[in-house]
Amino acid sequence: MHSFDVIVIGGGHAGCEAAAVAARMGARVALVSFDLDAVGAMSCNPAIGGLGKGHLVREVDAFDGLIGRAADAAAIHYRMLNRSKGSAVQGPRIQADRRLFKAAIHRLLKEQGDLTLVAGEAAELVLAQGRVTGIRLADGTQLSAPATILCTGTFLGGTLFRGEERLVGGRIGEASAQKLAQQMRGANLPMARLKTGTPPRLDGRTIDWGRLEEQASDADAWTMSALGQRTVPQVFCAITRTNPQTHDIIRANLDRSPLFSGAIGAQGPRYCPSIEDKIHRFADRDGHQVFLEPEGLSTHLVYPNGVSTSCRPMSNWP
Ligand SMILES: Cc1cc2nc3c(=O)[nH]c(=O)nc-3n(C[C@H](O)[C@H](O)[C@H](O)COP(=O)(O)OP(=O)(O)OC[C@H]3O[C@@H](n4cnc5c(N)ncnc54)[C@H](O)[C@@H]3O)c2cc1C
Repeated sequence: MHSFDVIVIGGGHAGCEAAAVAARMGARVALVSFDLDAVGAMSCNPAIGGLGKGHLVREVDAFDGLIGRAADAAAIHYRMLNRSKGSAVQGPRIQADRRLFKAAIHRLLKEQGDLTLVAGEAAELVLAQGRVTGIRLADGTQLSAPATILCTGTFLGGTLFRGEERLVGGRIGEASAQKLAQQMRGANLPMARLKTGTPPRLDGRTIDWGRLEEQASDADAWTMSALGQRTVPQVFCAITRTNPQTHDIIRANLDRSPLFSGAIGAQGPRYCPSIEDKIHRFADRDGHQVFLEPEGLSTHLVYPNGVSTSCRPMSNWP
């Protein structure tokens, strides 16, 4: 039996912050995550902040959190959204190199007092007299603590949809937390399910950047963290649009999209519709904006922001 003051399950943004703040306050903390190499991994677009979310990052930063400093250590593109409007509605947003972001989180976690990283699946909450007294890992190891914090993100009983394909997983290529999800369901707690989406990535070497509207990183040296500095070379993003041909292909495949076949019943974020949703809901539009955002300095991957989809892979997207 290993004993701690606080156990945090999950090494994503939430779990790293929870573990770090508890350790900074002097607690002995165990941060348990499936794969320690994935601690600090960015799930989807390697971007931090944006409208509504940039404020949150700065609030966490004001409490000495990690996310703002890690964002500055990894930022390859800074953009203040709503710049022409008042400061209350501006949204600081950075595009990160995901490799540098993860490295920064690992470095910052090491600086946070008595914090132990534990690799493994938290399979079960251990209960005594109706209280959680610790957790049991899938290999049988038991950890005890008076407080356990769940930061399981998209992994709790997660299912991935790609057209008609179904996969069990928390993120592509990663297991999901089925046992813990089962225990939570068994406890009859109120449950809801959310959905999110992601676009297919592009190979930047196949993009004719010269024909696109360029979006440079902001020149004024603002940072996400009050303690941050710009140290990483900056890249530019670009803007393009879908066209009627793209829309025709998507319309012809709508019945095979799990969003439209009814296979996905969960709610999605209000401001983040999939491209098939946009084409369906705004049928009169002949194009939707797509921001092409490089995923890092040492990769050719480009994230086409604006075309997240549940459609099956297709080789004939124009
Ligand atoms: C495809 C996709 C697209 C997304 N798009 C967006 C977006 O556009 N905007 C946005 O804000 N968010 C998006 N998200 C949501 C994104 O997951 C969250 O914003 C963010 O990652 C949540 O951080 P988190 O720390 O809560 O959880 P996560 O980043 O999901 O981290 C959870 C961690 O917990 C670990 N874990 C879970 N259960 C266990 C267990 N039982 N035992 C051990 N370890 C466990 C996992 O291994 C993982 O490391 C997207 C997610 C996905 C998968």
